[in-house]
Amino acid sequence: MDKYKILIGNETKFIFAGPCAVENMNMMEETIVFLSTLGIKTIRAGIFKPRTCCDSFQGYGFTAIAWLKELKRKYQVLFVSEIVDIRQFEKMSEVIDVFQVGTRNMSNFEMLKELGKTKVTVLLKRGYCSTIREFIKASEYIYKNGNANIILCERGIRSFDNETRNLLDLTSVAVIKQETNMPIVVDISHSLGRKDIAIPLSNACFACGADGLMIEVHPNPDIALSDAAQQMNFYEFKSFMDNICEKNRRV
Ligand code: PEP
Ligand code: MN
Repeated sequence: MDKYKILIGNETKFIFAGPCAVENMNMMEETIVFLSTLGIKTIRAGIFKPRTCCDSFQGYGFTAIAWLKELKRKYQVLFVSEIVDIRQFEKMSEVIDVFQVGTRNMSNFEMLKELGKTKVTVLLKRGYCSTIREFIKASEYIYKNGNANIILCERGIRSFDNETRNLLDLTSVAVIKQETNMPIVVDISHSLGRKDIAIPLSNACFACGADGLMIEVHPNPDIALSDAAQQMNFYEFKSFMDNICEKNRRV
């Protein structure tokens, strides 16, 4: 797991950054080159996008595998990408390092069992209507089938409030750190759905013991094909990183 971590302040943390979705080769290359300047090699590369509306952009799917292969050859990066059907596994394995199970599939136990029979790293997101206990229990479908390479990911839950896209429940971070040995990261972008309060909440994640963050970064969020409001541009992401590195420096 250490290969996915970098120094944040004076602790090593997971930072999974990159666009919501792979939109073309150029924007991925620009993003990779930029993130490399910050030492980040763990790149979000969504090719299957589970969207609420079936008319919304669904991702480039297998078409994007060739682009990612080329970029991996050129920049030696590590890709994290969501799997939505176990039949995608073999083809995705050619280039994907971390298999993300999204919030809508946390309870897809048949897929979790199959991922449990592999040795790939699985990033399991919390279901948006799932309790912390259900989240932990879901991870056991992977672990008890033989795969201990699990990173949990809090990504916010449904609530009555709509100041943010979801309600970031940091309780899960504290409970999971206390009760399990699994690392847990927080997807700050899908939790909040906005970026103006990402810094204080990311600092709160680390204060609760989070092992890292997932953040959406796009060369030009205004024209993004999905999640435009929450994606940071390069300038925003650089100052975000400077801030959280500074705050995470403990003496
Ligand atoms: C994503 O990370 O691209 C995503 C769709 O996240 P979630 O499953 O948390 O909604
Ligand atoms: Mn997104």
